[in-house]
Amino acid sequence: MVQRFDVSERFAAGVQYVAGRLGSGTSGRSHAIVDPATGEEVLRFELAGAADVDAAVRTARAALPGWAGATPAERSEAMHRWAARLAELTDEFVYAESLQCGKPLKLSAEFDVPGSFDNVAFFAGAARHLAGAAAAEYSGEHTSSVRREPLGVIGSIAPWNYPLQMAAWKILPAVAAGNTIVLKPSELTPLTSVMFAQAAEEAGVPAGVINIVTGAGPDAGEALVAHPGVAMTSFTGSTAVGRRVAEIATTASRPAKRLHLELGGKAPFLVFDDADLAAAAHGAVAGALINTGQDCTAATRAYVQRPLYDAFVGAVAELMKAVRVGDPFAAETDLGPLISHAQRDRVAGFVDRARSYATVVTGGEVPGGELARGAYYRPTLLTDAPQDSEAVQQEIFGPVLVVLPFDTDDEGIALANDTPYGLAASAWSRSVFRTGRAARELQAGCVWLNDHIPIISEMPHGGYKASGYGKDMSAFSFEEYTQIKHVMAETTGAVRKDWHRTVFG
Ligand code: NAD
Repeated sequence: MVQRFDVSERFAAGVQYVAGRLGSGTSGRSHAIVDPATGEEVLRFELAGAADVDAAVRTARAALPGWAGATPAERSEAMHRWAARLAELTDEFVYAESLQCGKPLKLSAEFDVPGSFDNVAFFAGAARHLAGAAAAEYSGEHTSSVRREPLGVIGSIAPWNYPLQMAAWKILPAVAAGNTIVLKPSELTPLTSVMFAQAAEEAGVPAGVINIVTGAGPDAGEALVAHPGVAMTSFTGSTAVGRRVAEIATTASRPAKRLHLELGGKAPFLVFDDADLAAAAHGAVAGALINTGQDCTAATRAYVQRPLYDAFVGAVAELMKAVRVGDPFAAETDLGPLISHAQRDRVAGFVDRARSYATVVTGGEVPGGELARGAYYRPTLLTDAPQDSEAVQQEIFGPVLVVLPFDTDDEGIALANDTPYGLAASAWSRSVFRTGRAARELQAGCVWLNDHIPIISEMPHGGYKASGYGKDMSAFSFEEYTQIKHVMAETTGAVRKDWHRTVFG
């Protein structure tokens, strides 16, 4: 289930991967990957800067004619071989993902790694289903067809919370559609993105099709967004940084770029009074605590109809107390540390400020003993927070759930929709009319009914409102990574005097 290896030996040459070679960044600044469970340095590397980004974009451009010119079948075959190669490397990926993020082994082994590899299998197949709309006839003398073509070099930027899955979501639809890519992972978590690209090349995806530059956001990130050789920017991260990226891509960048933005979330969890209480309480704890709450679709605000409210709060508090917080590499661990001590302090800051306006039912503390050196924080349940408080409105990105009561169905739905975000939501009820209404009226790119969190490669992921636009995963993502060309052919061979006369007499 896990295969440990010496990270400093494997990445001795650096964590930049351009033209099929590992290398070092040239920004002149170094960065350390830190194991958040222990605070110990795992690897120190040289960050990429603007010159490294430029070299990577040039490499991706040079690889473009060959890859875009390959047939869908050729791309598909290479991606199928990639999926097979990844399967052989599963245990190494589980290790590296848990090490750099502090994810419990079972999460890496049962969610992150298989989910990402399934994406490769899905897009290997989907690469052969890129056809545009059907041909159309025009006045009996023309035949039209639609070509779906790649855009060119894609510049993608990813966050640290699900590094492998985010790399998969960015790289796969782009390359399946015939683009080449430069991906900038978070500098906190580059290891599995590099390993993913290496495996592709080992499987026969040509060097230069997938390139990884690991640098800081304001430096390498902005250089990638602004680069004139990049046709499109695909960004996943916070709404604040997304705004900056959009500004550069649409105004500062020449030419302006196509944009895909997957931003923050503050998912509501709506429990009607006819819901299965035990199922909802379990769903809320799992949905709030997955990945230590560092999940853009995590359940963060539970609205519970008054008759179930007290029982729900009691059940969730008991379940949270039973969660085993500990070493990510221990098989029984449910909850690992946050990504960094800085993120832990940020989460603790939200909870500490909430003490003046809300009730901390359980949690709200940094564990002591063996765990004190890691970036741990106990699962936390808040009640009595006003709807307009920061704990209800802002993305905390930690193991914190706020529960609020509501009376009428109208009120529950209105409260659920009352934040700037719109990435995901769930509704819990045994009535098809209530779940049906929730599916229609909740303003989010994904609505779960009587569940929260599951995702599948075949279905799209993306936001409404301040959570961004565009889709990851599924065939819908090809809309982002392709452009549509209308081709119209005159088919009779005649001189079109009638039409030409309308133009020049
Ligand atoms: P972040 O916005 O701080 O950073 C994301 C990426 O952007 C990193 O690679 C970072 O180096 C880079 N970056 C930072 N400043 C930049 C700049 N000025 N120009 C270009 N790039 C820059 O986010 P994070 O803390 O890494 O991740 C957490 C956030 O990501 C949360 O808000 C979460 O909701 C969001 N997220 C969203 C989704 C989704 O699908 N919508 C998925 C995962 C995470």
